[in-house]
Amino acid sequence: MMNLPIEEKQLYSFDGFQSVRGQVVYPEKQRDLQVLNKFTGNMIPRGAGLSYSLASADKDVLSISSEGFNRILEFKAATQTVLVESGVSFGQLLKFLYAKNRWLHPIPGYPDITIGGAIGFNVHGKSQFQSGVFADWVESITLLQPEKGLTTASRFENSELFELTMGGMGLTGFILQAEIRTVPLPDKSIQRKRHKIQNFDQALALFKNPDSNVALFSWHTFKDGRFGAGFVYEDSFSPIEVRAKAFKWKGLHHPPRTSAFFDRLKVLATRLVPFVYGIQESLRPSIATLDIFTAAFPFVGKEIYHNLFGRSGVLEYQLLIPMDRLNKFLHELEVRVKDLEIRPTMVSLKRFRGQRKFLTFNGDGLCLSIDVLNSRHSLKFFAALDFLCTKYGCLPNISKDSRLPLKVIKATYGVEYELFKTQIEKLALPFSSALSRKLGLNIEPLPEPNANPGLEL
Ligand SMILES: Cc1cc2nc3c(=O)[nH]c(=O)nc-3n(C[C@H](O)[C@H](O)[C@H](O)COP(=O)(O)OP(=O)(O)OC[C@H]3O[C@@H](n4cnc5c(N)ncnc54)[C@H](O)[C@@H]3O)c2cc1C
Repeated sequence: MMNLPIEEKQLYSFDGFQSVRGQVVYPEKQRDLQVLNKFTGNMIPRGAGLSYSLASADKDVLSISSEGFNRILEFKAATQTVLVESGVSFGQLLKFLYAKNRWLHPIPGYPDITIGGAIGFNVHGKSQFQSGVFADWVESITLLQPEKGLTTASRFENSELFELTMGGMGLTGFILQAEIRTVPLPDKSIQRKRHKIQNFDQALALFKNPDSNVALFSWHTFKDGRFGAGFVYEDSFSPIEVRAKAFKWKGLHHPPRTSAFFDRLKVLATRLVPFVYGIQESLRPSIATLDIFTAAFPFVGKEIYHNLFGRSGVLEYQLLIPMDRLNKFLHELEVRVKDLEIRPTMVSLKRFRGQRKFLTFNGDGLCLSIDVLNSRHSLKFFAALDFLCTKYGCLPNISKDSRLPLKVIKATYGVEYELFKTQIEKLALPFSSALSRKLGLNIEPLPEPNANPGLEL
């Protein structure tokens, strides 16, 4: 059938909620991608596998890894764009651009995330309000489709295919290369101003004027009596030089994160996270100058965070709340948090603006993210969030929540879900994943594989 070795292994959604016995191949050269024509079953492109939902694997599906396609091909001075293969990571690309006094937007939260994966979910960064979503910065792509071969797509050439591939979850073909716009790097460090806030109202007042910064984001607690207290961070470029150290990162552990030690202590450990973080932050100076990589990737150096959740996994709910319904939403959220005694490990806000298109997480509003330990209790809370999300016309992020039920996706994405489904099904390509199966693309929706029931607290 083909010469590439197929590795069979257990593959997990990054939140640890789902797993499948999958198959992966690791092509290294373009000719190895003949696998797309030779394999007779369903396939799915795979980047670093860092999506919280199981979007690059499924049972009986061949995941085509982009790991071997990790070359930065050309920096085009005339257009200030960079041509890369899809397996290039953000960390790798930013290091390359930094040396040329260039930078790019938006930057998702961990350096191992690949360019292919960023296109697959049309990701955002901390500065969504200022820099939009990743597709806004992609000039063109080279896509490989079974039987059809290579196609170049951009806003001017094969534009329908281009639009569908931005946030297309790997269902339109294997992205071989992408050309991405870059920006000049005004300074090599970031000034981060930290505002201590007592409640969400104080945070919202600061979020009213997000235009003047490189990024504005926050961290909150849901602690009794201090619902919404925390910190708002305001980033701007700074001419102050900070000692440049080589930018290195450890890499994140994929589930199952099975340290027996942490498994026994995880409930306690996850309860301590907000407490420890709050104290640490209060002790820091309120204005800090950071090197640009440290500012871009706050999770680097804190990789232990995801390990604390052990085998149960970390669930994340990320949703976009329309500004005019914010107060009512937050009020009802507070009631649910108290009723269910929820103790999140992380709650954060970002301002968003943009157009809704297909299944990309984009639009106008305030983006709220909540991390919790996967437990029966948290699953009840997430079901309550599903209800609030639908009631207040919010948009949940499909890439961040492998538990998110199809009925919630249909109710919140509405016609954009239907359009995406129609266009993907029209392509009639042999691509599918656990996520696309849940979404009922090409088939009737099926129950999710191996859902992790969570911890009994
Ligand atoms: C710590 C952490 C922080 C994060 N921060 C953010 C954030 O700030 N903003 C945000 O939006 N997201 C964030 N994410 C989510 C992450 O950016 C996305 O889920 C991203 O898609 C993961 O990319 P990946 O390389 O791991 O690809 P995978 O997870 O392997 O794949 C993601 C999707 O892209 C498709 N794909 C991958 N490669 C290709 C290719 N070559 N051709 C065609 N399709 C392809 C896959 O089929 C799949 O559907 C974060 C995740 C983690 C773990």
